[in-house]
Order: sequence, then C-alpha cells, then structure tokens
Amino acid sequence: MNKNDSNSPPAGGAGGAAYKLATKLIHAGAEPDPSTGAIMVPIYQTSTYVQEAPGKNKGFEYARSQNPTRKALEEALAIIENGKFGLAFSSGVAATDAVIKLLNPGDEVICGNDMYGGTYRLFTKVFERFGIKFHYIDMHDADNVKKYVNANTKLVWLETPTNPLMNIADIAAIAEVVKGKGILVCVDNTFASPYLQNPLDLGADIVMHSVTKYLGGHSDLIQGCLVMNDVQLREKLYFLQKSCGAVPGPMDCFLVLRGIKTLHVRMQRHCENGAKIAHWLRAHPKVARVYWPGFEDHPGHAIAKKQMRDFGGMLSFTLKDDSVANAMRVLSSTHLFSLAESLGGVESLINHPASMTHASIPKEERIKNGLTDSLIRLSVGIEDADDLIGDLERAIG
Ligand SMILES: *Cc1c(COP(=O)(O)O)cnc(C)c1O
Repeated sequence: MNKNDSNSPPAGGAGGAAYKLATKLIHAGAEPDPSTGAIMVPIYQTSTYVQEAPGKNKGFEYARSQNPTRKALEEALAIIENGKFGLAFSSGVAATDAVIKLLNPGDEVICGNDMYGGTYRLFTKVFERFGIKFHYIDMHDADNVKKYVNANTKLVWLETPTNPLMNIADIAAIAEVVKGKGILVCVDNTFASPYLQNPLDLGADIVMHSVTKYLGGHSDLIQGCLVMNDVQLREKLYFLQKSCGAVPGPMDCFLVLRGIKTLHVRMQRHCENGAKIAHWLRAHPKVARVYWPGFEDHPGHAIAKKQMRDFGGMLSFTLKDDSVANAMRVLSSTHLFSLAESLGGVESLINHPASMTHASIPKEERIKNGLTDSLIRLSVGIEDADDLIGDLERAIG
C-alpha cells in the first residue's frame, strides 16, 4: 500500500489490524492494482513470471509458489483472523493435510470424537498408515485432554462447534493445558467463521477453515486456509504448501476475496435465522431434540457465550418418531432447504449426516458419539426466516 496516498484504502499488512472487523472485511488485502488502479484485485491467471535475468524477478517465480491474487487473499485471511500469516489451499482437507504433514511417524495427535467426516477419514485412512497416532476423545472438558498428553503428543486438533452435533470445546482452556509443552493447537474454525470466533486470540497456534463454507459463502468453490502468528510455523507450512502443491487457482481466490466482503452481513443474518429456527424447532411437538449452542441448557452454552460472538447458522435436530424412514421423509420434503452436503452458503441446506457428510465414520463410532441415523442437520441460509420456518413446518407435518 502506498503509505503517502491518503486516499488509499485502510488495508493490507499490519495497517489493517487496527480496524474493526466490518472494516477489515471490506478492505483487508485490497490494495489498488499498481499498474491500473483497479480497485478489485485482478485475477492473475498465469503459471509463470518473466524474469529479467536468471534469478532476478519481482518476487514471483512460478504460480504454485506465488500468485498475486492468492497473496492478496492470504493477507486478507490473516487480517480477519487476527493473525500474521495466511496460506490458502485447494480445499479444507488440503489445509488439514498440510498441518498433519508437520508431524513425523510416532507422533501423536489428540482430537475430538465428533468432527467433520472428511477430517476423520484423512486421519484414520491416510495418516494412521504413516505411523501417526490419533486419540479421538471427548473435548468437553479440557482436563480430559490432559490425560492423553505424553512425550509424543505434538498436536491438538480441535473443532468447535463440531460438525454435526454442535459440541463446544473451550479453546483457551485446552491451549492452557498444553502450553509450553511443544504441542501445537489447531482449531477448525469453519462453523464459526472469523465473524464469530478468533481462535488465535484464545491461544491457538493455527486456525484452519474450509473456505468453501462461510468465507466463500456462495456455494461456488472449494478452498481451505490456515492462519498463524509464528513465522517459523508459517515457513514450515508454506514449504508444505508449495512442495505438496495443493494450491487454489486465482479465480477461486478472487471469488473468496469477494465473498469475504459480506461475511459480517451474511453471518449476522445466518445467526438471526438460526436462532429463530432453533427456537421454533424446539417448540415443535414432533421434534425430540435440537442441537444448538445458543440454548441455555446446551452443555457448551457458557463456553460458547464466552468464546463466540453469537451462535451461528448451523443446527441439528432429531424427531420424536426417530425412525430413519421418518427422517428421510422430512429430508426429502423441503423445498427451500435443498438436500445437499456442504454448508455456509447464502441458501439453506438440509443434510443427513449418517448417509452423507459423515458416511465415512463407521456406524458404531457414530452412534457411540451420539450421531444417530435419524439426525438431521440444517445450514440455515439468509432467506426470509418465516419462509424457512414455513418450509420446515410443511416438511415435518
Ligand atoms: C467442509 C469441512 C471441511 C473440509 O473442507 P473442504 O473444503 O470440503 O475440503 C473441514 N471441516 C469442516 C468443519 C467442514 O465443514
């Protein structure tokens, strides 16, 4: 950013850090294009960069290693997560993959027993083969984490709220438990988004997002990211990003830069609609249980209130007639809620975790952790709440 130009947007680098979230979301990473003044970061659709002389370049050599559109996005992601460095990946699981590749055979990871099915699959089916040991535990109580810490522990992998049961883990308390032991804490912040929760402020070392969801916000791309403060950690993860090659294309980075600009406005409505639907469902005579951290009797409510700014647009529920057939009937009778995997887009989605997003978790494991065959998950969009409730009312019958 041209520091002498008072008309430059308050963006970029450390400059963006002084502003409040809504301002950061609009201006982070968005510096006028130096050659044309274009207010939007151009889509640098290029694989390579012409060098003046061998090794003499403008900081860009080959697009797996550097791309200006990706760089602008990575700066923006860092700023909105209150971190120093951002790295964008071709998907959320690619970002997770990079974090686990920091480890060596024999290292141990402590992670939750309720998490995104694709993360579980990556851990159990890919990385266990390479000699990394994962402990899938109840993260409700930070003291429970303590029990699994040993000399081989190198990482705590946290998801909060969890997908799909909306369990809450106390990020600050867990970070405190492992502090000073050389154990990294990485938080999958996909469900909360940076609008609701900033794990680095609570003591985490790395924040991971499936950018595909709320950050992208429009169900039109797949992407992941990591944000961190430690420069050495950034160098290791950047090395993995360029060496393993799971980088997003510039068009997708541009779309995410666009999506981020409305994150606060979208999230506010996601939260409002989510709360209305959670309360409506809970009062419905045919509904058995609603999983939403905004309820005062939710076991994680006090922690959610402490570490999140609101409760988000994700919730799950079961019906009193808890047969799979009844759940299937509801799942196939909504019109506004589209039956689909994924979440965090402006449109509402309905999902059957047992057969869709979480099918890669063995049935016994799922049931043991409370993810039953009749659980229905909603990603509440930003349509009119009354219309969404009307749609659920007709479907539940
Ligand atoms: C979707 C999702 C992921 C995986 O991200 P992709 O972008 O689909 O690779 C990881 N964690 C959570 C919580 C998710 O919802």
